[in-house]
Amino acid sequence: MKIKPLFPLAVFLAVLSGVSAPAFAGAAAGPKPLRVLLVAGGCCHNYKLQSDALKKGLEERAFVQVDVIYNAGSGGTRTVFAEYANPDWAKGYDLILHDECSADVTDAAYIQRIMAPHAQGLPAVFLHCAMHSFRTEGYIVPGNMTPWFELTGLQTTGHTAQAPITMTYFDKNNPITKGLQDWVTGNEELYNNPMGGILPTAHAVALGRIGTETSVIAWTNIYKGKGRTFATTLGHNDETVLDARYQDLVTRGLLWAADKLNDTYLKPAPKVEPSAVKKVTLAVPDADHAAEAEGCGCGSSLALAD
Ligand SMILES: [Zn+2]
Repeated sequence: MKIKPLFPLAVFLAVLSGVSAPAFAGAAAGPKPLRVLLVAGGCCHNYKLQSDALKKGLEERAFVQVDVIYNAGSGGTRTVFAEYANPDWAKGYDLILHDECSADVTDAAYIQRIMAPHAQGLPAVFLHCAMHSFRTEGYIVPGNMTPWFELTGLQTTGHTAQAPITMTYFDKNNPITKGLQDWVTGNEELYNNPMGGILPTAHAVALGRIGTETSVIAWTNIYKGKGRTFATTLGHNDETVLDARYQDLVTRGLLWAADKLNDTYLKPAPKVEPSAVKKVTLAVPDADHAAEAEGCGCGSSLALAD
């Protein structure tokens, strides 16, 4: 009878020698998994569950290793991430998955540090409230592009009340949409497009409709001529984030942004000890903002009438 070892030999030796185990013990020579950093936290959403679901869903679908910075603090729309204080915060990563919700963070230097690696060409993905973050001066004026809007590829300043969104992949020739089916989500927020479209550098991938309201809800962008990005405004509720159709879309968009939407990367990542890669930021609750966060009411503060 063959007994399955409880511990891979490489890990065992690494523990003995006091050295961290390689993330992919025993991985054969060949392409390395994409290193993805997911930054999640802020106002109004269940980022604990959603960041776990995204990491799991992406690693089941793509040859990626997802590290997570999750801010469990109560800063609400003023949530900041300590990691962004470091100019080298993105070092070592192939792509950043932005899942922050920090509408009232407007510090230009802080935002610039987040954007700098992307201006150098580091690919990015933006989910839902990331589009409504970093609302610097003039964000609400139709057609006025803040630095953050230039990065994401679309100006959006508010959203409808929650309702199911009819989603249409109207560009069937887009590589991201290959194999994806149109669907009707559960309750979601339809983000507006006040300038009536997306930036000239962006390309729409999917439209969403609630009643007579229609918006671009998934698109790509080329930032500063070289930074490939993908974004979707879907992802308010856990039901959506846990939906395989949503995770398929995010996976394909992410691989497109990384310029790796091919068979080599459309396969699950090797199993990794979760504790070896996941980073968790447990922010100290900020007394000034805690009460505001509890009663954040961002559904209304981000509303179209805002
Ligand atoms: Zn939301």
